[in-house]
Parts: sequence; structure tokens; C-alpha cells
Amino acid sequence: MLRISVIGTGYLGATHAAGMAELGFEVLGVDNNPAKAAALSAGRVPFHEPGLPELLAGHVAGGRLRFGTSLVEAARFADVHFLCVGTPPGVNGAADLSQLYAALDGLVPHLTRNCLIVGKSTVPVGTAEALTARIAELAPEGISVDLAWNPEFLREGHAVFDTLHPNRLVFGVTTPDAEWALRQVYTTPIAAGAPVVITNLPTSELIKVSANAFLATKISFINSMAELCELTGADVTLLADALGHDDRIGRKFLGAGLGYGGGCLPKDVRALIARATELGAGESVDFLRDIDAVNVRRRERVVRDTLELLGGGIQPSGRVGILGAAFKPLSDDVRDSPALDVATRLHAIGLDVTVFDPAATATARAVAPQLVFAATAAAALHEADVVLHLTEWREFRDLDPVFLRKVARGRTILDARNTLDPEPWLAAGWDFRAMGRLVEARTPLPKSVPSPAVRDRQPEPARALVAPSPLNRLRARVRRTA
Ligand code: NAD
Repeated sequence: MLRISVIGTGYLGATHAAGMAELGFEVLGVDNNPAKAAALSAGRVPFHEPGLPELLAGHVAGGRLRFGTSLVEAARFADVHFLCVGTPPGVNGAADLSQLYAALDGLVPHLTRNCLIVGKSTVPVGTAEALTARIAELAPEGISVDLAWNPEFLREGHAVFDTLHPNRLVFGVTTPDAEWALRQVYTTPIAAGAPVVITNLPTSELIKVSANAFLATKISFINSMAELCELTGADVTLLADALGHDDRIGRKFLGAGLGYGGGCLPKDVRALIARATELGAGESVDFLRDIDAVNVRRRERVVRDTLELLGGGIQPSGRVGILGAAFKPLSDDVRDSPALDVATRLHAIGLDVTVFDPAATATARAVAPQLVFAATAAAALHEADVVLHLTEWREFRDLDPVFLRKVARGRTILDARNTLDPEPWLAAGWDFRAMGRLVEARTPLPKSVPSPAVRDRQPEPARALVAPSPLNRLRARVRRTA
């Protein structure tokens, strides 16, 4: 059976290494960060990813999966080497490929047998061709080294499932041997029906970045529509629902709100713009500059609205309680997190900001130590003048607005993710704001047909503001940010 090394064991690599072990391979994960390698060797995952700790610890304990820091050891050990190092933003948004080159420089001169190197990192089109030339320079005499590209599409928060059940496999290859080896590696998901796209190196590279550019486009598209909704009295969530019923469009990634973030979408959009410009095709992706601009505008918008809610003025002051720091729920990743960006901007303006996130306190504190982090949502909202809901964790939907009304000083909440149910917040006396979404109290059911939910509920002051006539219902409590 093929032996596998995974070089770079961050969010992608650690999950891939554990996934490969789960598929039955002997796996060595290598990271140049000794603390990370030590944690993984001890069966500990140094980031938040549901299901990964159990999977990884099980295979470490079983001996099929181990971690270290030596690329020389990896060179001697494996038949297939997966490159999973970072490709962070560099100059002018172009991808910084230095981690990839450093990994090859440390690996290839020490190879002792013919092997396949497989790029999984997200790279600008043309990178694999350049790396092929580097490999040819570095490979020891008599050793044949093939390079393939197998971009990764996993979603943080669902990474284990996505690794074991990929919705497609893309193999950018130049030889039949490379395709054969990749088919061996992915025998199980292929047998389970995962579609396989066999193509050349540039197509495989471009598939990944265009997928991310498309997802970013969907999000910024719906956020552009949200801007129009806010001006016209339309409701962006209903608009998105209606668009989503068209299966040529689909409802996913049409959640209007604070926009996208994380270690992939923003950097991949900018890297695509940079690469296209380098190729003399900047015009082909001009629209992506607007996609990026719409996304940035959402964050500015929330900052502006918060200041207005606090009364404006030249020297704004007040306490802001923030729900969320991670760039998305089920993750502790704060790379280019919209939530943390808003929090740090408000703090820089001089506001008293306290943040709560169910998983990302440590990662957020590491990059924004100036902020105050609370251990609970209630503690973050203590005496807050304004509350911002910035990361759509499932548990925030279960918060008790009645209790929080007593904890906070102010009564305004801005749901910048459009995922909270306004009804209980309105009923508890909150001034509930959303992003392009109409917020109205529901009319109580007539007394003759009480539902258990209505029957058991106490009379609520906010509800009493809305008379149960159809006309008033239409006019009722339409709230949105300015
Ligand atoms: P990451 O920063 O979490 O992980 C990169 C790891 O590589 C780090 O642990 C780092 O210490 C290690 N590393 C750097 N240089 C090294 C070297 N020379 N030798 C050994 N290890 C080295 O990044 P990530 O989120 O895992 O992303 C990695 C790549 O995968 C990026 O190109 C990213 O765009 C892509 N990707 C990420 C995701 C995701 O959800 N995180 C999904 C798909 C694709």
C-alpha cells in the first residue's frame, strides 16, 4: 500500500492527514512549526474543527498516523507527498508562494525513491508549472518525481466530512502514473461515487480559485441587493429565498449580511485579480474588484451604523457587546474575520468593546489582544449600549432575550448575519435591526385558535405595540439600519 506524507499540517493538512489514515494509509504529517507537530503527535488538534480530534487521536493511538518536523524523514518515508502549506496574501494581494518553495527545497533533494508530489494548496494558475521546473533542478540523479495538483474544497467546520466524502475530486496530472496513484489514494471516495475530473495542471489550479471567486460573487451579489432593499423597503431574505427556488441559482451562499472572510475567499479573490493582471488579463476579472469592494463595504456599514446607534458625535463613546469573533461558525479561524475586523475598528475609534465567541477567544486574542474577551455571551453584553451579532453560531439563536434585556444597558441589537429570529427579541423589548431584512412583529393568532406556543406565552409589551389588523401588520415595526 502507498505511504503518504502530508507537508504542512494546519487546518487543511491536519485534516487531510487524519482523513488519509482513515482511508487506510500509513501517514506522516510534517510541519515546520514544532509546537504544532508536538500537539498533533500527542493526538491534540490545535484548532477547532468538529470531529477531527476524535479521528486524529484514534489514528495516532493506533499507530497509522504520526507527525514530525523532518522533511528528510518524509522524503524517505512516502510514495505520495501532499503539499498543504499556506499560500497567504503577499505583495498587492498576490499569493505568497514561499512556503511551497521552502517545502520543495527541504523535501526533493532528499528523495530516495520515485514518487508523486501532489499540490493541495490553493495557488495562482501557472504555479505548478513553475514548481515542476524547481523539482527538476532539485531531484537527485536517477529519481523520477512527478507533480500533480489536487485542489482541496473542504469547508472549515465540516472538514472531516468533506475530506472523507468529497463532492468532487480534481486531478491535474501530466502522466498516467500520476492519475493511477491518485486513483489509488482516493479509491474509497471514488467507489462511493465522488465525481473525478481529470485535467491538466493549469485547469486544476484555476478550478479552485474560480470556485472561490464564484462563491464570493454570490455573497457580494446578495449583499448588493441588500443595499437596494435597504433603500426601497424590500426584504433581502425573502428575495434570496425566491431566487433560491430557481435551481439554476440555488439558495446557498445567498445569506445577506456582514459578508465573507476567512483564510480563503478574500485572499483567493485578490490573488486571482493579481494573477490575471500579471497575465495582462486584468479586465477579465475587473468585476472581482467590485465583489471585494462590496464585501469590505459591509464591514464599514456595520461600524457606521454602530456609531449612529450610539448617537454619532465627534467623539463617540459607549459599550458595545459583540457576539462572535470567528469568520464563520464551527471554527476558531479568525483570518480576515469580518466579526473581528468590526470589533477592532470599533475599539480603534475609542469604544469600549467586549467580545464573546464560543470557540475563537484564544485565536482572536492572539491577533487582537487590545480587545476584552468575555467567557459568556451574557458577560459580553453586560451594560452594553449596543449589541452586535457578527458570527452566526447556532447557539446565539438560543440566547434568552428577556434575560439579556436585564443584563444590557441599551436595548438595540443589530443582527448583522440575518440569522436570529426577531420575534423573541422584539417581544422582550429589544429594538431589533437587521441588514436589508424587514423586521416586523408577527400578529398574534386569534383567541379562538390558540396554538400551544401562543397559549403558554405571557403577554409581552413589545407585541402590544402592534394592533392585530392586516393594515397595521404591514406597517408594523419595520426596522432596519439607516
Ligand atoms: P494554515 O496556515 O493553517 O496551515 C499551513 C501549515 O503549513 C502551517 O501549520 C505551517 O506551519 C505549515 N508550513 C509552512 N511552511 C512549511 C514548510 N516549509 N514545511 C512544513 N510545514 C510548513 O493554512 P490552511 O488553512 O491549512 O491552508 C493551507 C492551504 O490550503 C492554503 O493554500 C489554503 O488556501 C488552502 N485551503 C485551505 C482550506 C481551509 O479551509 N483552511 C480549504 C481549501 C484550501
